[in-house]
Amino acid sequence: MKKQYAVIGLGRFGSGIVNTLLQHGNEVLVIDINEDRINQFADTATHAVIADSTNDEALKAIGIGNFDTVIVAIGNDMQSSILTTLVLNELKIDKIVAKALNKRHGEVLKKVGADWVIYPEKNMGERVAHQLMSPNVLNFIELAQNYSIEEIKLPSKMVGKSLKELNIRVEFNLTVIAIKSEGVVNISPSPDEIIHEGDVLVMIGENRDLHRFSNIE
Ligand code: ADP
Repeated sequence: MKKQYAVIGLGRFGSGIVNTLLQHGNEVLVIDINEDRINQFADTATHAVIADSTNDEALKAIGIGNFDTVIVAIGNDMQSSILTTLVLNELKIDKIVAKALNKRHGEVLKKVGADWVIYPEKNMGERVAHQLMSPNVLNFIELAQNYSIEEIKLPSKMVGKSLKELNIRVEFNLTVIAIKSEGVVNISPSPDEIIHEGDVLVMIGENRDLHRFSNIE
């Protein structure tokens, strides 16, 4: 069954989430206290409602309890974001995602029931630093403190060789889980797969090994 999403707060962060969910065919309820913001989504969102999300009666009347995932994307008003999260927790929402402005705010959001706290500025800053240090890394997901999955541009001296020849597992202690070639993704590539110019390797391993691989000249 399709997931039902609700997004509260239509600033830059909330709008970004809503647009991406809609582009991928999801049903999204949007809520904002500001009528202009709601009007901007009147034609695109599945439902658009003007409401104060700190008001539990208003959220109940909207039927928020039927939504699996609710994203609290309220920006600068910390009090509203905390109260909203608390109300959602009392309404037994399965998954509450909330945006925090800083560490303390995030800790409070966790305490009042957020399942996943996001620090957009901090995360983006970390990603930018990562990109600056390793321009060959196109994307990454942190799995644990020292382990990640990274999409790394193939170093030019490896072009035209097979995975077997490159022996990445032994030489770099990394596992290639996919190869992206001209927009086509080859999952679990065979050892005989030849890597071409412009290919991107999706690899899993320890951060220091990924770093070594992504900095090959
Ligand atoms: P961003 O930093 O993501 O751009 P903003 O602070 O500009 O965030 O946007 C937050 C949105 O949350 C605004 O559109 C605001 O009207 C909305 N908002 C703030 N408080 C409430 C509330 N109590 N109920 C519903 N929406 C709210």
